[in-house]
Amino acid sequence: MIEAPIPAGEEQRLAALRSMKLLDTPPDPHIDALLRIAQRLFGVGSALVSLIDTDRQWFKARIGTTSLEGPRNISFCGHTILSEDILYVQDALVDERFVDNPAVTGHPHIRFYAGIALHAPDGSRTGSFCVHDPVPRELTGVEREALSDFRELFEALFVAHQLRMDAAWLQDALGQAERRALIDPLTQLWNRQALHAMLPALLSRAEREGLKVAFIYGDLDHFKRINDERGHAGGDQVLIQSGQRMAAAIRPHDLALRLGGEELAVLALVQSQGELDIIAERMRDCFCRHPFDLDDGPLNVTISLGTALAEAQEVVPGGQNLIERADAALYVAKREGRNRVERG
Ligand code: GH3
Ligand code: MG
Ligand code: MG
Repeated sequence: MIEAPIPAGEEQRLAALRSMKLLDTPPDPHIDALLRIAQRLFGVGSALVSLIDTDRQWFKARIGTTSLEGPRNISFCGHTILSEDILYVQDALVDERFVDNPAVTGHPHIRFYAGIALHAPDGSRTGSFCVHDPVPRELTGVEREALSDFRELFEALFVAHQLRMDAAWLQDALGQAERRALIDPLTQLWNRQALHAMLPALLSRAEREGLKVAFIYGDLDHFKRINDERGHAGGDQVLIQSGQRMAAAIRPHDLALRLGGEELAVLALVQSQGELDIIAERMRDCFCRHPFDLDDGPLNVTISLGTALAEAQEVVPGGQNLIERADAALYVAKREGRNRVERG
């Protein structure tokens, strides 16, 4: 195996990567949607948007893997960023660079790989878009063109993402290292500590702008049954896709959280109860509207939700009173038959 070497100009490359504000951020619904289209177009098991950090590759978007990152030195994408050319491996088992690579000899058993470098605005090659599959095959001329078309689109979405991050006062107050500790590695959603870290800034903004603080507490329905019927890995896939669906249901300034297990939440600032109802209903709908896509076939998933609304001054530090009210409403939603929203 040949390890991915460190390219010339690595320091500038890393600085450019940091300034993109993509590392350790929640799922981006537009990047996820584009990646789904790519995966279907290429007809492959896996498609990734990978960022090459100092010693890891971190996936901004992923299909076909549950890990959020992996070591850089054994990554295919670490090779892809070395050049402007497409990296195409027809069959990894007959390629000296990859024949004994752990991703070839073990899970996910890569044989076919095609990837193209993605750039930061300064031209640095900071990441890659790639597709791979356990079955070796040729890369067609049309697919070569598609790789570079997708490159254009992913790079445009990176810029849009950065503009949004610049506007996202809340997340921007956190450095990347801090963000990393606050992101749940499975779902890419904010974790419980993030709620505590961000609540004070959120409360003061609510007071400043005369907005109310809203909390939506969600719990997947019959998740134990999903684990029993589709295995723990299937359950994990449901959680990952739940995070992606939530990111698409909320607004850019709302926070989507995983509080633990299959408990998901949204923290948002709203004008009114009606506005909160709309967000909660959109969230319920985004789960049940169409089936989840698991390796062993589609699966219908629903979520029950409880909401709570308060003036900023009423919320205690840590938000415990708000969370408890939403939790009590969630309990009612479960009791009343699930797949529904209850006000707390
Ligand atoms: P209900 O509709 O009443 O919520 O039913 P439920 O089956 O979802 O109930 P419960 O909350 O008791 O079950 C949660 C299950 O979630 C139990 C636990 O094994 C599973 N779980 C917790 N964390 C994870 C995880 O990270 N991955 C997977 N696959 N399962 C998890
Ligand atoms: Mg639960
Ligand atoms: Mg549950």
